[in-house]
Amino acid sequence: MQKFLTDIHNHSTYSFDGVSPLAEMLKTAQEKGVAFYGVSEHFDFDEGKVGGGTNAEEYFHGARHLQEDYAGAMNVLVGAEIGFSPLPEFIEQNRALIEKYRPDFVVSSVHACNGEDYHKQTPFYQTTCEGVQILRPKKEAYREYLSLVRRGLDAPYSYDIIGHFGYPTRYAPYADKTLSLAEFGEEIDGILKAIIQKNKILEVNASNRSSKTFSPCASEEIVRRYFALGGRQVSYASDAHTTESILRRREETVEMLKNIGFTYITVPCRGEYIKVEI
Ligand SMILES: [Zn+2]
Ligand SMILES: [Zn+2]
Repeated sequence: MQKFLTDIHNHSTYSFDGVSPLAEMLKTAQEKGVAFYGVSEHFDFDEGKVGGGTNAEEYFHGARHLQEDYAGAMNVLVGAEIGFSPLPEFIEQNRALIEKYRPDFVVSSVHACNGEDYHKQTPFYQTTCEGVQILRPKKEAYREYLSLVRRGLDAPYSYDIIGHFGYPTRYAPYADKTLSLAEFGEEIDGILKAIIQKNKILEVNASNRSSKTFSPCASEEIVRRYFALGGRQVSYASDAHTTESILRRREETVEMLKNIGFTYITVPCRGEYIKVEI
């Protein structure tokens, strides 16, 4: 096992919300010394965006060319971040995309519920009670999210990484946004045990822009619980959309992982799981 810099799960202007073009992202990643760089453009068919947020044809064609250009210099993985929705039409779109383009790895993420992205404060977190808009109870909203994550683990297509577990905690309008074991222990344990049993990778995503302090998704408490249950496969993601964000908070992430007891990060590549020492 060797030490390398890895950053798996990033975006570029191929995604609807990317800022820097892929060629620039790769150049910067190489300059920063990244050995394994994963590109994972958005495919959220359930949110009604054209192509799910990325033009697949242009992306896979362009990224595969750049991958060849970097051969021998940096391992560029051409992947996809695929939004999970339980509706059969979206499951079918996800499956067809994976089958057609064969991404090097897939991040499976829950971004939305009934087409409403959790990053929007309304209308997801609100409900109407006797004609008045009120906040939905946290228990109700978070339980819905957790049940989607759990169902996503059974998706009938291949995926490798569970992206930013705890995503609503970044945006929810509650005084206490945490997804804690004290409140949701049973649901969280069910998810972590399924990740382990299915041999998947739990992502530690360092991109929380809504918090100044280091607050990764999944949270330290959840990553610790995953380790205690026997989970050893974790990935690091800056989830960069700009060149400046590549490798953000990687050192803090690695420090946290080492303190918990992890000795390696897992890099998925075409079904193979590479262990990289931390
Ligand atoms: Zn995401
Ligand atoms: Zn992302």
